[in-house]
Amino acid sequence: MSLKNVKTAIPWPLIVLFLILSAASVVVGFLFYKSQENQILTNKKQELSSIADLKAKQIIQWRKERIADGLNFRQNISLIRQFSHFLTDNNDRDLKSDLMQVLKALVDNYDYRNALFVDRNSNVKLFYPNQDTVIGDYLKQLLPALIRKGDIVVTDLHRTGKVSFVHLDLLVPLNGPEVNDTAAFGALVLRIDPERVLYPLIQSWPSTSKTSEALLFHREGNEIVYLNELRHLKNTVLTLRRSINEDGLVAAMALRGIMETSDAVDYRGVKVVAAMKKIPESSWYLVAKVDREEIFSTLRSNLRLILIIILLFILATGLFIGFLWWNQRVRYYRQKYEAELDHLALVRHFDYILKYANDIIILVDKNFIIVEANDKALETYQYDRNEFIDQPLIKLLSDISIKNFEKNVKVMDEAGYSTFEALHKRKDGSVFPIEISARRVDIEGNMYYQSISRDITERKYAEEILRESEEKFRKIFEESPISMVMTGKDMGIISANPAFCKMMGFSEEELLGSALRTFTHPDHISGDEVTLLRLVAEEIPVYQTEKRYIRRDGSIIWGSTTVSLIRNNFGEFQFSLTMIEDITSRKIAESELEKSFSLQEATLESTADGILVIDTKGKVVKYNQKFVEMWKIPEELLQLKEDAPLLNYVHDQLKDPDNFIRQVKHLYSEPEEITSDILEFADGRFFERYSQPQKIGGKTVGRVWSFRDITSRKKAEAEIIAAKEKAEESDRLKTAFLHNVSHEIRTPMNAIMGFSTLLNDPGLTVSDRSQFTEIISQSGNQLLSIINDIVDLASIESGQMKINIRKININSALRSLCEQFSYKEKPQKIILGVRIPLPDDEAEIMTDGTKLVQILSNLVNNAFKFTVNGRIDFGYEMKEEFLEFFVKDTGIGIPPEYHSRIFERFYQVDNTVSRQYTGTGLGLSICKAYVELLGGTIWLNSKPGEGTTFYFTIPYIKSGRITNK
Ligand code: ADP
Repeated sequence: MSLKNVKTAIPWPLIVLFLILSAASVVVGFLFYKSQENQILTNKKQELSSIADLKAKQIIQWRKERIADGLNFRQNISLIRQFSHFLTDNNDRDLKSDLMQVLKALVDNYDYRNALFVDRNSNVKLFYPNQDTVIGDYLKQLLPALIRKGDIVVTDLHRTGKVSFVHLDLLVPLNGPEVNDTAAFGALVLRIDPERVLYPLIQSWPSTSKTSEALLFHREGNEIVYLNELRHLKNTVLTLRRSINEDGLVAAMALRGIMETSDAVDYRGVKVVAAMKKIPESSWYLVAKVDREEIFSTLRSNLRLILIIILLFILATGLFIGFLWWNQRVRYYRQKYEAELDHLALVRHFDYILKYANDIIILVDKNFIIVEANDKALETYQYDRNEFIDQPLIKLLSDISIKNFEKNVKVMDEAGYSTFEALHKRKDGSVFPIEISARRVDIEGNMYYQSISRDITERKYAEEILRESEEKFRKIFEESPISMVMTGKDMGIISANPAFCKMMGFSEEELLGSALRTFTHPDHISGDEVTLLRLVAEEIPVYQTEKRYIRRDGSIIWGSTTVSLIRNNFGEFQFSLTMIEDITSRKIAESELEKSFSLQEATLESTADGILVIDTKGKVVKYNQKFVEMWKIPEELLQLKEDAPLLNYVHDQLKDPDNFIRQVKHLYSEPEEITSDILEFADGRFFERYSQPQKIGGKTVGRVWSFRDITSRKKAEAEIIAAKEKAEESDRLKTAFLHNVSHEIRTPMNAIMGFSTLLNDPGLTVSDRSQFTEIISQSGNQLLSIINDIVDLASIESGQMKINIRKININSALRSLCEQFSYKEKPQKIILGVRIPLPDDEAEIMTDGTKLVQILSNLVNNAFKFTVNGRIDFGYEMKEEFLEFFVKDTGIGIPPEYHSRIFERFYQVDNTVSRQYTGTGLGLSICKAYVELLGGTIWLNSKPGEGTTFYFTIPYIKSGRITNK
């Protein structure tokens, strides 16, 4: 379904909801407006009514006050007398002037416009001020009657031609001064200007308003006459008249007794709201009114706001509903879209499955005409698509399957589905087995059959092979002369072949279910269990062993046993197969043989030599324990029973392995030869080897190798040789020493003897004598020094030489040594130098100074002895905690091979040069012994022909650091 085909549904419920909400908002707005209007109207009417009331009361009050004014005046008897008197005497000027004062006071103080005094006949007698001095027509008509009546009255508003303004009068009739004078003699007429005193009362308004006003009117015949100056029409006082029958006119309504209205017009014809009042004791009506227009002006401006609110509300509702609708649409389309996507995916998925399915999928109609088929179907049946579709299904069936076709269709029609196997035909006519799962399906009211099938040729083939192999196995199992038994996981017997039954003496039925180990000899059971566990854990592929079984009659047999586990393709254990070969007779023969062998074995093991027997092909036949120990051969190498690995192994142990290997090879090529030699090992051992052919019946069958460890013998021999050499050397040295010593002693001795004899000669000159004694003394010194040396050495060797540690300044010791040697007579030209690096105060140390000086003088002496010319330097250097002394010469030098030996006693370098020099060969050995006694070491550096440097060290112990040692 395409999205374009989806018609947009009109959201009627939402539209109706919108209309209802809009209408409701309009109605609510209208009602609100109306209620506001009513409220305003009611309020206004109440307000106007109160104002009308107030004003009426004020007018009444005002009228009462006027009457009270009149009464006040009348109570002044003397004044009334004066007025009465004035009527009798017009010419009394004083009186007149007094009364004029009274009238003036009335006008000025009581706010009257005119004050007039009239007589009974309405003739004006006195007046104040000097204008409007006459009585108008209106009053002229009323006055005589009023005077007669004697009541104080306030007249109506009126206008006359004689008085210039609209006015009303307070009429105060004046009675005679006496109490019984009831008839009035005149009256006081006080003219009131309403413009000044009445109208302001009416026109004042308690609040600001543009149109409100109060007005007074009264009725004259069928007319309404407006009594005061109006707000909206000018110059209308007593001139504006309207008919009382005018409908809707406020004043007319008032006349009809209506006290409030909101539906009337005023004198202008403008709609007003009004409250009316009749003023009691007068013909006046009061109207308080205001234009409707004004009252509602605020509401009108509010109406705009209300309308805007309603409009906004409708708009908001519209938007909200629109949004709801839009949202609904979006959700709707999204769901549609997702459903469509799902559908598409599903369709594609099924298309995919159909196309690439490994099964044959075919759809046929109710007439068994092929409607649809997948690629696998075409491939299997070898047809093109157009050859296949619209073809009858029967074309694919083999003859046998055609027979079963109807039966299968019947099953399918009844049950709705059916699974069966059949033989189908390819395009080339070849037939193959197929497994079919078919189902009746209803597609849009039409009936179809859909089948999913699979070519099962291979499975059939595999089944056949399996069947055949099972058959073969069964045959082997049944007919094999070897005993076979199958056991389950618990090693219980599942099946046993006739050979096994016969061997054990049981029938198969008796054996089934019993454990195989019931027949195993107890000696083997624990070993078996361990190995079977390894087998199950797949550590070993099969378990092979030789063990004993117990038969039904209790006799014991030996069986060569092979156990293997049979697993299925998934590696799951199925059963274990045990094959047992009866080897009892072989075992008996072997044990006999063993007995005959044991004597030979005992002989072999009792020899001290290592023996190895190898056949002519290099296979190891026999060896004894001694051989294994001597050659330290690992067990696994022996297991191999081959000579090659053994040769490889011994190769690394020998000092000259190649020679040995050569020997072995030679002997392989000369099987008859007998040889022996000594093998020397890298670790210093020696083996004596002997090798001879092994013969049986005169025929060489192998070779016997015997080895004897002669290491200790060899060692003893070497020691003897060394001792002998040492003794010889010692002897030689001693001879040389004796020769030397005798020479060294004899030379000075001869000199002493010879010159002391010469001293006896009387003809000897003084100088000769002194020369001779000098020679004798020198020779004596030399002799002494030799003897000292020998004594020193003897005491060193016997461990009696003691050291004597004292404070010594090595710088001074070296300097004096240098001085001594400088005086020494020397035929050669030799420069002597001394090096003293430490300052004198640092050079004071604790040591045996005598020995130190002796070491140095020995070394310097030697240097002089072996240096022909050049220089000799001696001195010391600081080396950490030690002082390193040196004596360096440019003499004959010492070859390297003598460097260690010259420190030995009596040792002298054996060369022609040193032979020329005298010496005992003791000096250096004494030096060495002294140096070591002082806690140091001595060594040398020398090159023949270039010179020699002797070094020795002693600890640098500054004096004061220790006092004694
Ligand atoms: P001798 O009394 O023979 O000198 P020494 O023990 O002092 O005995 O010396 C041993 C030998 O070392 C000397 O005979 C000499 O051959 C060799 N020798 C010692 N000092 C020197 C040297 N400075 N130069 C060469 N040879 C020396």
